[in-house]
Amino acid sequence: MSIRLRLILWHSTVFFVGLVAFAIVVWIGTRSVVYNDTDTWLVRQAAGLDQFLRMETHGTDQAAVVEEAREFSTGLPQGSGIRLFDRNGVPLYSQPDTAITGAAAEPSSLIHNGTPLRMVHRRVTVAGQEFQFAMWRSLEESEEALNDLRFVLLMMIPVFLVASVGGGWVVSRRALRPVDEITKAARRISLQNLSSSLPVPSHKDELQRLCEAWNEMLHRLDVAAGRLRQFTADSSHELRTPVAFIRTTAELALRHPRSEEDYRDAIRKIRDKSSELTGIIESLMELARADAGQTGLSFALLDVGELVTEIRSEVEPFTGQKNLAWAVRPPSQELSVMGDRGALRRVLLALLDNAMKFTPASGRIELRASAASNEVVVEVEDSGIGISDQHLTRIFDRFYQVDPARSGGGVGLGLPMAQWIVQAHSGRIEVISDLQHGSIFRVFLPSAATRV
Ligand code: ADP
Repeated sequence: MSIRLRLILWHSTVFFVGLVAFAIVVWIGTRSVVYNDTDTWLVRQAAGLDQFLRMETHGTDQAAVVEEAREFSTGLPQGSGIRLFDRNGVPLYSQPDTAITGAAAEPSSLIHNGTPLRMVHRRVTVAGQEFQFAMWRSLEESEEALNDLRFVLLMMIPVFLVASVGGGWVVSRRALRPVDEITKAARRISLQNLSSSLPVPSHKDELQRLCEAWNEMLHRLDVAAGRLRQFTADSSHELRTPVAFIRTTAELALRHPRSEEDYRDAIRKIRDKSSELTGIIESLMELARADAGQTGLSFALLDVGELVTEIRSEVEPFTGQKNLAWAVRPPSQELSVMGDRGALRRVLLALLDNAMKFTPASGRIELRASAASNEVVVEVEDSGIGISDQHLTRIFDRFYQVDPARSGGGVGLGLPMAQWIVQAHSGRIEVISDLQHGSIFRVFLPSAATRV
């Protein structure tokens, strides 16, 4: 059931109940006013007749009393009358001629010859003799007026109800028209045109706020989709280069018969490029998993000193090749973190790989670990080319490289991957760098003692 129909149904039901209640109140109120007026008149006239009979009657016989009653009745309006009785209820006089009887002192209703009446009954003592009289007034005219009123009220209900349903239909249609437009516009939006926005109604109402919120969300989705597109494009681009290299190397080797040494050389190049390719694919997969919210990490208590020592021996041959001074300072006390050993190793190796790549021969690289309040800090310091402030803010972006020519096979995924892993450990990476003098990358991890 549409909102419009529900609104109209609710509003019409409430309106209908209100109208019926109004009609009932008006009807009962008017009727009681009419009856009260009639009763007040009757009581006043009865008191008048009572006084008239007592004051004006000269003599003691019934004829004199009847005469006074007759005289009084000449002043009564059309539709009213009196009937006089002796003390035993024997009728003496009636104007107009009716057979009305009754004994209620309070005004009461009765129907006489099909005519509704109000009547009072009184006893009066005139010159020592008791008489009774009934005084009445017809309600015929009042009832007719009340019937007319009832007709008007009954007619009013359907007329107003139809008007209210019609009005509700028009108003709700106008109020909800933007919803249809928004629905149509929203249906047209897909991944390809996330940058288009919904029409925002100009009235400052709920719909305007809803559309604004939708547009903000569309903008966020557009930015995210743009990043994803860029990531996919960059990834394919970065994968194409090593694959092309591998294919070209293989094709060249196969073109003519060659010496064993040449073949070995080609295969070695293919092997190196393949391992580079494997590294890129692993980083891409890791980041894709991170985007999908799957960490794939398994946490265990691990000794930071052990990790540092392990990495020392792994990196040593490479620093030797480049004639770099390589210093490792394991923590002076036992430090442990809850972490994924493999992932944290990848972080440190990525930082050390960068340090080696961007530090000229005879430079110095240092790996050290220490404790700082509730955290464990692992630092990789180099005396390399450093990073200018302008690039410092961007080096954690995917595929970002200050100078791709100097990146030695990297594709700009090492730092984003390292940052993601550290963040998945509730830690953070900070970097301070001095152009031409070197950089320090600091990895902060919550100390295992502080983890719950
Ligand atoms: P890559 O694998 O290409 O090195 P990273 O994401 O690891 O990608 O690093 C991004 C960029 O940050 C590098 O291309 C380099 O320009 C800069 N960078 C990273 N580490 C260092 C460092 N220790 N010294 C100087 N520049 C660095």
